[in-house]
Amino acid sequence: MLYIDPEACVDCGACVSACPVGAIAADTRLTDKQLPFIELNAAFYPKREGKLPPTSKLAPVIAAPNVTARPGGPLTVAIVGSGPAAMYAADELLTQRGVRVNVFEKLPTPYGLVRAGVAPDHQSTKRVTRLFDVIAKQPGFKFFLNVEVGKHLSHADLLEHHHAVLYAVGAPNDRRLDIDGMDLPGTGTATEMVAWINGHPEFTDLPVDLSHERVVIVGNGNVAFDVARVLTTDPDVLARTDISDHALAVLRNSKVSEVVIAARRGPAESAFTLPELIGLTATCDVVLDEADHQLVVADLARETDPLTRNKLEILAKLGNTSAPLTRPRIRLAYRLTPQRVLGEDRVTGIEFGVTGTDQVRTLDAGLVLTSIGYRGKAIADLPFDDDVAVVPNDAGRVRGASGAYVAGWIKRGPTGFIGTNKSCAAQTVHQLVDDYNAGLLTDPVHKASALDKLVRTRQPAMVDAAGWQAIDAAEIARGGEDRPRDKFTSVAEMVAVAATAPKPTVRQRLTASLQAH
Ligand code: NAP
Repeated sequence: MLYIDPEACVDCGACVSACPVGAIAADTRLTDKQLPFIELNAAFYPKREGKLPPTSKLAPVIAAPNVTARPGGPLTVAIVGSGPAAMYAADELLTQRGVRVNVFEKLPTPYGLVRAGVAPDHQSTKRVTRLFDVIAKQPGFKFFLNVEVGKHLSHADLLEHHHAVLYAVGAPNDRRLDIDGMDLPGTGTATEMVAWINGHPEFTDLPVDLSHERVVIVGNGNVAFDVARVLTTDPDVLARTDISDHALAVLRNSKVSEVVIAARRGPAESAFTLPELIGLTATCDVVLDEADHQLVVADLARETDPLTRNKLEILAKLGNTSAPLTRPRIRLAYRLTPQRVLGEDRVTGIEFGVTGTDQVRTLDAGLVLTSIGYRGKAIADLPFDDDVAVVPNDAGRVRGASGAYVAGWIKRGPTGFIGTNKSCAAQTVHQLVDDYNAGLLTDPVHKASALDKLVRTRQPAMVDAAGWQAIDAAEIARGGEDRPRDKFTSVAEMVAVAATAPKPTVRQRLTASLQAH
């Protein structure tokens, strides 16, 4: 996902220490698992006539927005949501002195899918929260956590207190597979499972039964990989992560010996990304059956795209299903179109049509999960395109709703990795700032100090930055020496811990009040 131009790089190493997720390492210090990335990076900058090309593949740098001060107070923006798109948007706005950003989040804890969506065995990815912590500490940034827009506050309330409202609410639902049997006990979605694994408070009671030998996951994107990895990884390894205690307890008693990831198309059309395939094959036993190996060979013979070829070459080297089972394994299966889930009282298997043929194939399974993508949800008072499940927008400006903007998955659909949201958010912020500079945004009707009062009246259990820091510190302390943190999984528990946060001193209250005026 990240390439370094060997010609432009001056080997200063600054990026290695600055990268919040440890994604950059010196080529001399790579682990065996990381070695394939040397070749991938080199292939991205192919040699031409023995000489490296100039830095033609550098991404264009998006300049910081330039806010022109206007009468009516500093630019004040409400951001709804606190995941990567929200935090990158806040950061972009706060590059300008005097701008104020208020971030509203439904849960008492911030950072959206980084906390509740990134798999617990990907702790280095979760380290991006350190960058978000730095953003949240900038002057002008304020958290309003445990506050739901649409319940405690309306869009109109937010517009009365801000020049603009930027929604970065992601895509909270799943795409549903419309086949018979999807309502049987023992069916579910991979995204719900990820939320359960990560201790999201709304998914703690998810009934996850792992008392059968096989799990089938429909769809082969990165989310399917995340779930399959967690289901096949030694629980003692997971116990050193921030996985929820309830998920770990179920995984310790798991009887699952095989997770089949079933794709409806062929190997060349696999939805997972190359870095995730490299990561999966480096940590888990991944196999293919003989017929699928032949599909890989056939695809390799005609594929020309270098990245897809890289994927196929890795698939071609995978072991066979006939190998003896020594630990739980993952099987990648192709050309299987789901037709119906089998079972009377609960799931016993799933029936597929072999794509492009009349043949039918049945797989026994005790758990059938769909992993066919996330889906955006309509936002009150904003237009919604139900077909693609996004808010219709032009580069982030919501169509037909002055003062409303979108960034992240609710703007462009559920694709891309965390970093994709940086340029996405920057683009939206540019439109917003242009509109502000052009005098198209209405000034807030209330003083800044009135917002705090309004929110506390509507939601007395509002959690502020100090409250979140108390939750964060308590979770890290509970994690002890072996785990990065032990998460609270109930909102009531989180709110109680937030209430133990030290109250602001008179001096801090005075400074805040002066800033608000
Ligand atoms: P995804 O990458 O869009 O994959 C969806 C899968 O579902 C595809 O295999 C697709 O097959 C299949 N599918 C869709 N409709 C189907 C149907 N009706 N029947 C059978 N199969 C169907 O979705 P995702 O895995 O949820 O990931 C969402 C985004 O988050 C992706 O951009 C992903 O890369 C990103 N993500 C990244 C990471 C990471 O970087 N580590 C981790 C997690 C997620 P077709 O291709 O045939 O439609």
